[in-house]
Amino acid sequence: MEIKKVVVIGSGTMGSGIAAHLCNADVPVTLLDLKTEISEKARERIHKSRPPLLIDKTKINNIKIGNIIDDFDTVKDADWIVEAVVERIDIKHDIYSKIFKERKDGAIVSSNTSSIPIKVLSEKLSQNEKKDFCITHFFNPVRYMGLLEIVKNENNNLDKINALKLFCEKELGKGAIICNDTPGFLGNRIGVYAMQVAMTEAINSKLSIEEADAVFGRPMGIPKTGVFGLYDLIGIDLMVDVLKSFKKELPDNDDFQNVAKEIPLITKLIKDGYTGRKGKGGFYRMNKSGNQKVLEAINLDTEEYSNSKKIDLKMDTVDIVGLINRNDKYGKYAWSVISKIIKYSSSLVPGITDKFNDIDEAMRLGFNWAMGPFEMLKEIGPKNFFDRIGVFKNNQFLENLSKSNNEDFYGERQLYTKIETLGKIKPLALKLDKNKSACTYRFKDYNIVEFTTKANALDYDSMDSLKNATDKPLIIINESMQFSAGVNLSYTMDFVKKGDFKSVEKFIKYFQETCKHLKYSKYPVVSAPSGLTLGGGFEILVQSNFVAAHTNIVIGLVETMVGLVPAGGGCKEMLWRWSQTDEAKKDPDFAPLKVFEIIGYGKTATSPIEAEPLKYLMSSDKKIMNRNSLFPVALDIINENKNFSPLKECTFKLSGKTLKEKMTNILEKLYNDKIILDHGVVVGSELAHVLSGGDTSLDKTLSEDDLYKLELDSFMRLIETDKTQARINHTLTTGKPLIN
Ligand code: NAD
Repeated sequence: MEIKKVVVIGSGTMGSGIAAHLCNADVPVTLLDLKTEISEKARERIHKSRPPLLIDKTKINNIKIGNIIDDFDTVKDADWIVEAVVERIDIKHDIYSKIFKERKDGAIVSSNTSSIPIKVLSEKLSQNEKKDFCITHFFNPVRYMGLLEIVKNENNNLDKINALKLFCEKELGKGAIICNDTPGFLGNRIGVYAMQVAMTEAINSKLSIEEADAVFGRPMGIPKTGVFGLYDLIGIDLMVDVLKSFKKELPDNDDFQNVAKEIPLITKLIKDGYTGRKGKGGFYRMNKSGNQKVLEAINLDTEEYSNSKKIDLKMDTVDIVGLINRNDKYGKYAWSVISKIIKYSSSLVPGITDKFNDIDEAMRLGFNWAMGPFEMLKEIGPKNFFDRIGVFKNNQFLENLSKSNNEDFYGERQLYTKIETLGKIKPLALKLDKNKSACTYRFKDYNIVEFTTKANALDYDSMDSLKNATDKPLIIINESMQFSAGVNLSYTMDFVKKGDFKSVEKFIKYFQETCKHLKYSKYPVVSAPSGLTLGGGFEILVQSNFVAAHTNIVIGLVETMVGLVPAGGGCKEMLWRWSQTDEAKKDPDFAPLKVFEIIGYGKTATSPIEAEPLKYLMSSDKKIMNRNSLFPVALDIINENKNFSPLKECTFKLSGKTLKEKMTNILEKLYNDKIILDHGVVVGSELAHVLSGGDTSLDKTLSEDDLYKLELDSFMRLIETDKTQARINHTLTTGKPLIN
């Protein structure tokens, strides 16, 4: 079965996302909705979506738009018809009867339902029609969420289901997991249960919402929204609907019922319009104090808002064992939440799937957890777990495990895919070194460095790991959400607060040395990024010999936003890339002026397609849709470069003073037009100083070290200013830039 044309019916959140993602994969797609303005506006909504659903916005017109009255015969040509209309069974049944009348023989029809069982969806279909019907449950936002759950029925032609799975994996880049027809399938069943446990236990333990989110967050390997923040993000009212549906579908003795009871505070919040981020706020809200915005958190007891407090658990990495062994209220809370999640998930095997491994992977791909419940159990160790757990009833999985005394029960990871992923290789590799910011593995004859800090921010330890790993071909890659958000600014600010600028300088110098070391390494260095690849993260990438980039990268040099200039070689490398263009050969100022604009505005790209015109990525860099394939592609690069010879250092010719004047004129205009303020001019002038080559002229040759030096000096002058420090502090506390 080949899928050459797809029709998606329903152009709301999910239908638009699915159509856009098919467009990302260059699959011809038609998107149909009711004959109202909804269908006409679908393209506009996709175009404006944030985060962007399209990898390449210029392809928007490849998505054909229509309505189910005038354009339904497009269904006749489709190899796959995806239904993504509202969650109403009567409407869905009606659509299927129309589709099956029109579809060509053998075309697959699937539903994106999140809660209606396939038994019910397909009850009006003939046996023959059922053969080609299944559920394909995508997650929102479709481009970014890796999970696709496929639910089959007993009449399905398995070859066809497998062909669909392969198509979704290869072309759409999804982690396609086949699961049984049970409420919420894998991801939502465990994910929503986990949220409910985290919330009820927080209320029972009298934790504040900030405390609960700090525990049910980074140290557990869960995104920083935690539970209350995630409720706000999803929508508190939507969560109530989701719970209602689970309560209705699940038997009374399912433990889910115990954690899905009505919470009076939630009812009150919805009644008052506090439905989460889309409403007036939710558990958290933004409030104004003077002309400043402040984040407030609700008190679960008094139901009053007050300034949100930062909770520092002093745990910057994922550490399940460290967390549950804490002798305080946080350790107690963590254990009660984690143990309940493990108990519940294991009680559902083999009911929801006979592969426990798939549950873990569904949590990684659908909820961005760093590890699933069974990996948590592996971390804790079965013996340790059983010593603490007390009674467990009706749990075949745990009974078998406790009888077997098998501490090593887990086996391979990522069984749902045949791709040789990083996740599969890591357990087989030798752990060479681990410090607090990175882990180095040796597999066969090459090294792998995986950063492990929050957002993979970079510090001395990250640099150490990179530097020490160049004794073999090296792949820099990780399994977390971000490749690297850049240099760790709070680490840098700790020195600044003490007035210890020498240590800042020493660190940046070490950063430069490491990047140079990567670039001129004897063996090839490959960076394989996904997610944020910003600032210092980009500088590592740009000074690697090869790149295999996931299509969901956000890439760029954003240092000027925090009042700095890139100082790990970012200015230098961008100058070099732009100076290789035809325009630069005719005009020596072309490249520096171009780079001045890109770095000056802190431009970022949200896909490789956007990154190439900025030269953040080059056409020779590999662009990969399926994140799981980053590792094998990086490995192929290493294997293809067995005879790699190290690069030769490059040199620069820059105009110096006259070029700086041109840049200063640009800054003056921006200042007069009130696009930048006083400190913008200061930062821009330092950038101009670096990019014009400082005290130089076109007859002189500058080395890479000269440029590193210019970057470092400008960086140091800037970080010593109060206004750059104010920018950094503002970004660290609010996550947003300060314009001063
Ligand atoms: P939505 O409300 O955003 O969009 C539904 C669309 O269906 C609307 O544009 C509506 O006009 C259209 N529609 C209604 N009746 C129709 C008909 N007869 N013919 C054609 N179009 C019709 O809903 P959504 O969030 O995109 O959800 C769609 C499906 O995906 C539902 O089954 C839902 O359970 C499931 N789902 C939603 C999410 C999510 O996060 N929103 C995640 C996974 C699955």
